[in-house]
Amino acid sequence: MNATTARPRVVILGCGFGGIEALRGLSRADVEITIVDRTNHHLFQPLLYQVATAGLTAPAISAPIRHVLRSQMKRGNLTVLQAQVTGIDTAGRQVLLDDGQQLPYDHLIVATGATHSYFGHDAWSAYAPGLKTLADAFTIRSRVIGAFEHAERLADAAARAPWMTFVVIGAGPTGVEMAGTMIEIAHHTLPQEFRRIDSRRTNVILLEGSPRVLGAFVPQLSERARAQLDRLGVDVRTGCMVTGIDADGVDYREGDGGPTRRIASKTVIWAAGVAASPLGRAIAAGTGITLDRAGRVPVEPDLGVAGHPEISVIGDLAAARSYGRGEPRPVPGVSPGAKQMGRAAAANLLRRLAGQPTRPFRYRDYGNLATVGRKAAVVDLPVPGIGAVRFWGFAAWLFWLFAHIYFLIGFRNRLIVMLDWAVAYWTYERSARVVAEPPPTQGEP
Ligand SMILES: Cc1cc2nc3c(=O)[nH]c(=O)nc-3n(C[C@H](O)[C@H](O)[C@H](O)COP(=O)(O)OP(=O)(O)OC[C@H]3O[C@@H](n4cnc5c(N)ncnc54)[C@H](O)[C@@H]3O)c2cc1C
Repeated sequence: MNATTARPRVVILGCGFGGIEALRGLSRADVEITIVDRTNHHLFQPLLYQVATAGLTAPAISAPIRHVLRSQMKRGNLTVLQAQVTGIDTAGRQVLLDDGQQLPYDHLIVATGATHSYFGHDAWSAYAPGLKTLADAFTIRSRVIGAFEHAERLADAAARAPWMTFVVIGAGPTGVEMAGTMIEIAHHTLPQEFRRIDSRRTNVILLEGSPRVLGAFVPQLSERARAQLDRLGVDVRTGCMVTGIDADGVDYREGDGGPTRRIASKTVIWAAGVAASPLGRAIAAGTGITLDRAGRVPVEPDLGVAGHPEISVIGDLAAARSYGRGEPRPVPGVSPGAKQMGRAAAANLLRRLAGQPTRPFRYRDYGNLATVGRKAAVVDLPVPGIGAVRFWGFAAWLFWLFAHIYFLIGFRNRLIVMLDWAVAYWTYERSARVVAEPPPTQGEP
């Protein structure tokens, strides 16, 4: 309890999809809330690839946390701190911050999400940036735009080739979205703007270890997505395991025990692996629980940590299950999952404070969407009583577009995105191509 106010102290770590919903669920309660995030903005990650490919500016898909939470701030029980959380002392009930400060809590909600996993090859990160934060998106955008600029300066076609070859590793939604957009930029946005290079000769290669793209979708939609990628001109190579990445390209093995091949490329993007936030390890060390293979924290049905009901873990950091009809099912690492867990963790905390029993978490699946280039997408929607409704192509793209605009935070963001997309749709222009810094030394760590 807070000695001055006698209110329970609730600390929320992370102001992403899960953290912000947890906060909203608690803001009217008689509790003292502190929310901590290392950035000053709430980020809509599903459209991050648009910033990385210069279609949208950063403010279109993000908003200052203090602005987003201004109505909650008026209630007088919320403190927002921008700080990196470095540890959690579960025995002493304190959160440790990067400046050495300690933040005491009575209840803790951890929602620090996930980060990239290079499957034990962390050195690859220098050559193949992943896409998780705005800083990542700026790095990728600068490398992609910088690669064309570099190619224009080279007289020799052979020397240009690696600068005009882009490799995206991982054909989940992010990889597919990146590859589809990059080929469209090369084929439609840039051709009139360069003199020496013909940007239509750009290669975009999408490497995937499993046999199909969009492996989380049903095979029918994977095939549709692949056919659309083929039409756009993306070179899709499935069943290919990456074995090395360096400053000059990518090595991969075809199939199990197949030949090793090399792609000479100066721009490689990593969209293959996700690992839970390192704070999972701090929770495990303090509570004795064992993390799953992705470093996620296994949680109880009510999203609490076993033996520590004062700690809830939600969103991408939680290995949570949904308790509906039938067997409990794993909750996928998607934004609706994080948001629903945020609301559920807040509701359970209120129940606990009221001396009532907590309830098991139940995930409502709203389906899977992925866009493939400028005007095609695949959509898989579970409709109660009907089963799955699946569609693709332009209608699916319109659905994807309005769903993403609807879920963006703030009217201003929705307006900017709609305007930018309308212009881009008719003109192919990518309005966010201005890069303040010269490109980093490409491919160098
Ligand atoms: C490129 C990309 C595309 C995606 N596309 C989709 C999509 O189309 N549809 C979909 O449903 N899902 C999509 N996702 C997944 C979705 O974004 C996540 O499932 C969701 O963001 C998880 O929410 P969360 O609250 O757990 O974490 P996040 O939303 O990631 O929030 C975590 C927050 O914690 C903060 N944080 C992390 N570590 C610390 C620390 N040590 N100290 C302080 N603060 C910290 C971060 O700054 C961040 O604000 C995508 C993800 C990515 C990266």
